[in-house]
Amino acid sequence: MAELSPAPARILIADDDEVMCGFCLRAMAAAGHTPRAVHSAAAALATLRSEGPFDLLLADIQMPGLDGIELTRIARELDPAIAVVIMTGHSSPATLHASVRRGVADYLTKPFELDELTVVVAQALDKRRLLQESLRLRAVEQLLASSEILNGTLEREALAHTLVQLARTQLPAAVSFLLLADQDPQATLVISNPPGATLLPAGRDAIAQSLKACRALRLTAPTPLGTLASTAFHHGLVVGLRNRGEPIGALVLCDEQPHFAPVGSEEILSLLANQASTALRNAHLYGQLETAYQDLRELDRLKSEFIAIASHELRSPLAIVLGYATMVHDRTEGEPRQFAARLVEGAQRIKAIVDDLLRLHDVDRLEIALVQAPASLEDLVRGVVERFLAQAKQKNLAIQLALPPEPVIFDLDCELAQLVLGNLLANALKFTPSGGQVTLEAARWSQAQLTAALSAAPPNPTIRRLSLPLAAAWAVVHVHDTGIGIPREHQQRIFERFYQAAHSLTREQGGTGLGLAIAGDLASLQGGVIWLSSNEGQGSSFSFALPLTILSSG
Ligand code: ADP
Repeated sequence: MAELSPAPARILIADDDEVMCGFCLRAMAAAGHTPRAVHSAAAALATLRSEGPFDLLLADIQMPGLDGIELTRIARELDPAIAVVIMTGHSSPATLHASVRRGVADYLTKPFELDELTVVVAQALDKRRLLQESLRLRAVEQLLASSEILNGTLEREALAHTLVQLARTQLPAAVSFLLLADQDPQATLVISNPPGATLLPAGRDAIAQSLKACRALRLTAPTPLGTLASTAFHHGLVVGLRNRGEPIGALVLCDEQPHFAPVGSEEILSLLANQASTALRNAHLYGQLETAYQDLRELDRLKSEFIAIASHELRSPLAIVLGYATMVHDRTEGEPRQFAARLVEGAQRIKAIVDDLLRLHDVDRLEIALVQAPASLEDLVRGVVERFLAQAKQKNLAIQLALPPEPVIFDLDCELAQLVLGNLLANALKFTPSGGQVTLEAARWSQAQLTAALSAAPPNPTIRRLSLPLAAAWAVVHVHDTGIGIPREHQQRIFERFYQAAHSLTREQGGTGLGLAIAGDLASLQGGVIWLSSNEGQGSSFSFALPLTILSSG
């Protein structure tokens, strides 16, 4: 297997021996790294502060002023993940013990060969990579946990508080700020953890820089970025929050220490910012959805109120028109009688529409009370058919009955059941061309039969609402016609209010699109269900089932 060459590392070499320094510098450059050499511990510290972070510090143990061990301690304070290799002239056990205690895992005893130096540095860098990896894994675990917390919060301000708290849990800093300008740019929201901290103009400038750079930035500003009580913070880590590329705010961590957050913190803060942006977007969308839903409900209430008032107001004048038209019809002969018949017909159609609208209103307000009494399925079917015989004859349509061999008697709200069946039969007659046939088939079904039929039917609100009682039997009526049928794409929505398979301006038959919605609501009200099976151009079968308690049979 080919050996992978390690990624180039930034290496700081500190040795007061200039020859040694030069040797290490050349060796590290030859190994593909980016080395930088200084000749004192003080210069090393200054370089770590001003040019850091470095991946590895290669330091002589004995330097004037500050020794290599003390330099290591301070370097580790600045960056806990920095790898350190100490070069010693004489490996006394005491010095080595001190080195190991301070976490200096690797050392080289002078004089050493070039190969030795390369191998020790490579090992130290590997250890650093492993350490960084495990730190990153820990951070990812924490981020996953925070993602759950963030996604579980849908209220913007609560989310903002959670976020500033999470930021400080993930990356220890004296204070964290969240600035949000996602809704009203004039009313920016600034939240801090701990509460009561102030984000200063320099902090806001830092945010602008980070948003421009599109990544997290580590900053040290001449004037404080923020304050908390009497403490001023000059050092910070800042990342912008974006929603679909648009800036919506920023997350800022501030501290008194320049290297308060370990190497890799930028990455963690960026990940947190990404999660926060998504969570904020979700919260925003949820808020919009909530408002839209409320608006819709209000609109629905107003529409319902309007329908109720308009229908009520239409009822009285309609009763007058219908009453007088009927009177004229009954008292006249010839042409005037025919005209009056038309008037009565028209007024009755308006009355049917008004009745439908009021019935829907009653269903919505749960103002329909069931009045149940024992009745026979056969009587229900015959009673409804009788009312439509004249209409069928006029259109040259045959009505066939297929009734159960044994009477099916059950508790029934006869009026509501008649309305359901009446609607289905009226449609069958309306949508079947002259010469066609309509068959009413009534039967007693087992629950298994009903379950099978419903699972084959296109879903509709009554099927979704229905929870089948166990071991119940059902009274079922089918209305089969040989009419125009219903295209597949309309079948799922046909029971919705005002839904019509053909566009209202192009369809031949009149109607409001309310009949099936009412039939569905009234079937549901009795614990029943309605469904259809239809083939375009071949006819439709509309069916309804009502739960059955057999009182007597045979
Ligand atoms: P309306 O008949 O007043 O328009 P409905 O709710 O009763 O309202 O019916 C909705 C639509 O369903 C009808 O406009 C028609 O397109 C379709 N439809 C209903 N019953 C049948 C049927 N038996 N055959 C064909 N289409 C039907």
